[in-house]
Amino acid sequence: MTTLLFRDDPYLTTASATVIGAADGALILDRSLFYAAGGGQPGDTGTLETEDGTTIAVTDTRYAADRSAIAVTVATALPEGTAVTQHLDWPRRYRIMRMHTALHLLSVALPHPVTGGQIGADESRLDFDIPDALDKDKIAADLEALIQGDHKVTTEWITDEELDANPDLVKTMAVKPPRGSGKVRLVRIGTVDLQPCGGTHVASTKEIGTVAVTKIEKKGRQNRRVRIRLMD
Ligand SMILES: [Zn+2]
Repeated sequence: MTTLLFRDDPYLTTASATVIGAADGALILDRSLFYAAGGGQPGDTGTLETEDGTTIAVTDTRYAADRSAIAVTVATALPEGTAVTQHLDWPRRYRIMRMHTALHLLSVALPHPVTGGQIGADESRLDFDIPDALDKDKIAADLEALIQGDHKVTTEWITDEELDANPDLVKTMAVKPPRGSGKVRLVRIGTVDLQPCGGTHVASTKEIGTVAVTKIEKKGRQNRRVRIRLMD
């Protein structure tokens, strides 16, 4: 069982942990500030530092098969019980947080069903179920206005039953909200957006900075793929 430090504080960049398991080039930590890949957001990278000052690179972060634990990918195994200090690759993660939050706003600028998506540190995309052609300049202007609105980003929890009673909350058909714990985390962006999400986001939309809508592609009869890029 791994405590998900990133979930309560996405701005945490350093934290202690203990190795509680090892398998297949990965270590299980008792608590993780590294985000485990999921929901279109890639796993975090960084380093683990042992008490003797040795530094080991973390090249990816994944959930264990039953999702109860988080495994960080490392080249060098450490024995169970080893105390480590986790150091997050913060510049990369912060860009991912900005991009991830920008995609929420893109789903506000384009209020259509989302069929897929991918978050990167530089470029991200969402696929929408829209039959009509899209106006790139209008989407960019609407996105910019939402970013400049400086809307606060907060989280709250509801039960699975409450989610079932409010199916309109789910915008992303391709990514099902994580189930099993009996509760679902919602991410609220001011008065403009509310949807289930387990990812990491910036605290306020203004932190996203300048985003360009770089490309709109037609993928099939109804699908439009919209790509955005961080410009600073
Ligand atoms: Zn999110």
